[in-house]
Amino acid sequence: ILKGVIMDLKDHIRGIPDFPKPGILFYDISTLLAEPDAWQVAMGRMAKIVSRHQPDILAGLDARGFLVAAPLALKLGLGFTMVRKKGKLPGETIQYDYDLEYGSNTIEIQADCVKPGQRVVILDDLLATGGTMEAAIKLFKDVGAEVVGTACMIELTFLNGRERLDGVPFDTLVAYD
Ligand code: AMP
Repeated sequence: ILKGVIMDLKDHIRGIPDFPKPGILFYDISTLLAEPDAWQVAMGRMAKIVSRHQPDILAGLDARGFLVAAPLALKLGLGFTMVRKKGKLPGETIQYDYDLEYGSNTIEIQADCVKPGQRVVILDDLLATGGTMEAAIKLFKDVGAEVVGTACMIELTFLNGRERLDGVPFDTLVAYD
């Protein structure tokens, strides 16, 4: 990692037009993940944001949120739990339906994935409309967790997703207007 140079993570994120639908500019983090220095820098910055909330456990949103939350949990010595699309988790689950930027979705968590009162930070690659994050916040509150923060690598600020997060703090590494 170059000393004295502040890395611009935008240099390592690709915008791919018309994916998965016409009119959507898809922000692809594959290029960042493939570049070890960039991934280290991104996770280092995320670790600072996340540790300020003093969480007990980190939650990742299916599927790219796992790539943020799992390495951070390991780095910070915390537990990790998955928020998944419908039908993927065994045992007792609770689910929530919501609309997203392209289409609609149902997500679920395991009913016993957190202990009551545990401090959870929920992570994803990107915040668009905020519908997915809003749904995940509701699920964790329903099982008695304290949702102390949320964060993504990328925020699409023009969609105002952070206004839907029920007052839970939100942080991002990079923002696009
Ligand atoms: P939303 O619920 O609208 O905030 O959408 C967030 C979810 O959809 C995240 O899990 C993102 O990975 C994905 N997503 C939405 N829009 C985009 C986009 N323009 N580029 C990449 N991923 C996106």
